[in-house]
Amino acid sequence: MSHHLYTVVIVGAGPGGLSVAAALLEAGFHPEDILVVDRGEVGQAWLDYPADTHLLSESSPTKDDNEIANVRTSEVFPNIPHPSHLMYQKYLDYVAQVKKIPVKKNTTVENVFFNPEREEFVLNLRGDGYLTSKYVVWAAGMYYTPNEDLDMEGCYIHYAKLPYLDDIDAKEITVVGSANGASGVVMQLARPGRKVTLVVSREYQIPMPIDCLWKENMKFVQDMEREGLVDIVEHFRVKRIYKEGERYYLESEDGKQLSSPEKPIICTGFLLNIEPVASLVDEVVEDREHHVDIDQDHQSKKQPGLYFAGVIGRFPGDTGFIISFREFGEPIAQSILEHEKER
Ligand SMILES: Cc1cc2nc3c(=O)[nH]c(=O)nc-3n(C[C@H](O)[C@H](O)[C@H](O)COP(=O)(O)OP(=O)(O)OC[C@H]3O[C@@H](n4cnc5c(N)ncnc54)[C@H](O)[C@@H]3O)c2cc1C
Repeated sequence: MSHHLYTVVIVGAGPGGLSVAAALLEAGFHPEDILVVDRGEVGQAWLDYPADTHLLSESSPTKDDNEIANVRTSEVFPNIPHPSHLMYQKYLDYVAQVKKIPVKKNTTVENVFFNPEREEFVLNLRGDGYLTSKYVVWAAGMYYTPNEDLDMEGCYIHYAKLPYLDDIDAKEITVVGSANGASGVVMQLARPGRKVTLVVSREYQIPMPIDCLWKENMKFVQDMEREGLVDIVEHFRVKRIYKEGERYYLESEDGKQLSSPEKPIICTGFLLNIEPVASLVDEVVEDREHHVDIDQDHQSKKQPGLYFAGVIGRFPGDTGFIISFREFGEPIAQSILEHEKER
């Protein structure tokens, strides 16, 4: 029995994957030739975000930083500049419907390899079955795989592994990280009578001018420092965390030490979610930031025909916000069209 060969299979129905699918349809690909698969629902990652998550980036009538595929977010949530994660998932589902993007839900891709004889990719699915395609776009997000690349014992890992910050009932808490994730955690934990120490590897400053609440959150944490609710320890790049007796000890790369009575909370970013395609792409780590080695069209330098979109497909220096990666669809669609002409 012959197996349906898709032109493009996109893994991940988040804002990244949907943007690419919409661009491919726009470029003239037939809906039957493309397929988006997701291990859950459309926008599953947003369903899984912590309960109080709201978009940091803004949707306003004049500037909609959260829209993708030219579908206004106001069609789903009018007049809400920072909607909840659940509203945004509804919006993504709406985009898939209005753009008629074919999505196969509840389908997890376990590994992908390239068959050079047939010149096609084979995507093995969890359970049973597989898909084949001429091109693969990997848009599987990266916020399930926190970076635990520290020599540490007994720590909490935020977002993916720490479900209830409210359950932490200590008088003194240390948070390791900076930027957005750690600032959000500090904001939730700081309250009168509790001392929160935020440990950051450089200065506590916004990495680049981003027009969103991230900036506000960091300013808020600085205000809390002035009020004595938070201590910010700068230039402390944690190398090791260990427990001795009842206390936890944090050691920096240059030999400084801090201690904490409660398990520290680690917010040191995320690793790339690329295990199923790991043999088809090289990983580059620069200053602890993980990236895939891709060309200007977001294509793996190691395996032509494999593309990276969404937050994984960003280039070094890019913040990974929707406003930047929603633009990746166009170059990917054009590159695939070029390859198709050559085949
Ligand atoms: C808490 C939080 C808040 C954020 N807020 C903002 C914000 O306000 N503004 C902003 O611009 N950015 C924000 N971001 C950053 C980023 O823009 C979003 O996380 C965005 O969803 C990333 O889009 P994506 O399509 O790359 O990945 P995701 O949205 O993570 O989508 C990836 C999809 O791939 C699926 N998947 C993963 N592995 C597999 C597999 N093996 N097989 C099949 N499917 C798979 C997942 O189920 C998921 O649906 C936030 C991130 C976090 C963690």
